[in-house]
Amino acid sequence: MPNDLMEALVLHSIGDLRLQQIHVPNLSEGQVRVRIGFCGVCGSDIPRIFAKGTYNFPTVCGHEFAGIVDACGAGVENFAPGDAVVVFPLLWCGKCAACEQAKYVQCHDYGYLGSRSNGAFAEFVVAPKENLIPVPEGVTLEEAAMTEPAAVALHALRRVQKSIVGKTVAIFGAGPIGLMAAQWARIMGALEVLLFDIVAEKLELAKRLGFESVFNSAVEDAVTVANAQTDGKGAHVCIESAGVPQTYLNALGSVGRGGSVVLLGNPVADVTLPATLISQLMRREVNLLGTWNSDYSIAGNDDEWRTVLQAIASGTLTLSPLITHKVPLTDSREMLHMMKDKSEFYAKVLIHPS
Ligand SMILES: [Zn+2]
Ligand SMILES: [Zn+2]
Repeated sequence: MPNDLMEALVLHSIGDLRLQQIHVPNLSEGQVRVRIGFCGVCGSDIPRIFAKGTYNFPTVCGHEFAGIVDACGAGVENFAPGDAVVVFPLLWCGKCAACEQAKYVQCHDYGYLGSRSNGAFAEFVVAPKENLIPVPEGVTLEEAAMTEPAAVALHALRRVQKSIVGKTVAIFGAGPIGLMAAQWARIMGALEVLLFDIVAEKLELAKRLGFESVFNSAVEDAVTVANAQTDGKGAHVCIESAGVPQTYLNALGSVGRGGSVVLLGNPVADVTLPATLISQLMRREVNLLGTWNSDYSIAGNDDEWRTVLQAIASGTLTLSPLITHKVPLTDSREMLHMMKDKSEFYAKVLIHPS
C-alpha cells in the first residue's frame, strides 16, 4: 500500500489546483488510515485556496470529513478496518499548557489536516487514533462529514454560557454554519430564532428547516426588524455568521440589554463602528464573545463532536437539507471555482473520491 498512488486535488500555489496521483500517506504507529467517504468544502477553504494560500505547498485541502477505516497502525486497538469514523482535523502537540488542560484548539504548536498538512480532498487520510470518533448507527457518512461545522456552530452557542430558554436569538448570515447555529438555538430552547440574509435561496432553505422568522436584510433593515420582533427590547443573543461589515453592525445594533453578541463569521473586511453604537453597547452592558473552533475530548466525555453525532442520530439536528452539491474529485476543481465565483447557489458542498 505505501507505494500505491491515490487521486487527490493538490494545491500547488494560490489558485493552482491540480487533480493528480500522489502517494497514499504512510501509516505509523498509533495512526489510522481512513478512506474518505465525503469531505465538505468549508467557507474558509475558498479564501485559503484562491487568496491566502496554505502554510506550505503543495497541500491537499479539506478538513470536514468522514470515511471508513482502511488500515490501522501498530498499537491501535479501538478501531478496525470497515469502521465508519469522523476525524477531528486539529493535530495538537500534547506538550503545551493548553494541551495539558485538554484545550486542544488552543494548542500553541498544532498541525491541521487540510491546511498545515494534507487533508481530505483525496482518497485517503492518515490521522492519529486519538482524533477519530466512531459514527453512530443511523448517521450517514454525508451527515457525519458535517460534524466539524456543526460542532463549531454548537460551540458558538455554548460560548453564551447563560440559558437561552425562552429567549430570542438572532442570526446574521444564513450560510451552513448560520443554519446550524439556528438549529442549536432551537434545540437549546430559544423561544424565537430570527434569521437574516441577503440571498433569497438561503432564506428559502431556512424556511425548509422550519424557521418562520426569516428576513431579507437587503430589503428590510435588520435592526428595525429585530427591535420590532422583540417589543423594542432587542435580541438576547445575536450571532454574526457572515463576516461582512454590515452583519457586524446589524448584530451589534440588534442586541438588547445584558445580551451577548457572538463573533462566528470569518471577517472579510475592516468595520467602522459609529460612536452612537459603541455607546449603546456600553449602556446595554453587552457581552462581546469570540468563538473559535470546537471542544473535542479524547476520553469520549461529553464533548461537542459527540453531542453533534448524537443529535444527528436522534434526529434533532437536521443536516441533509443543507447539502446542495455532491461532486466527485474529478469535478471538484470546477466546483471550487464555481464557489469562488458564486455562479450558482450553494450551501454545503461535499466532495467524494471519483
Ligand atoms: Zn471548516
Ligand atoms: Zn499543544
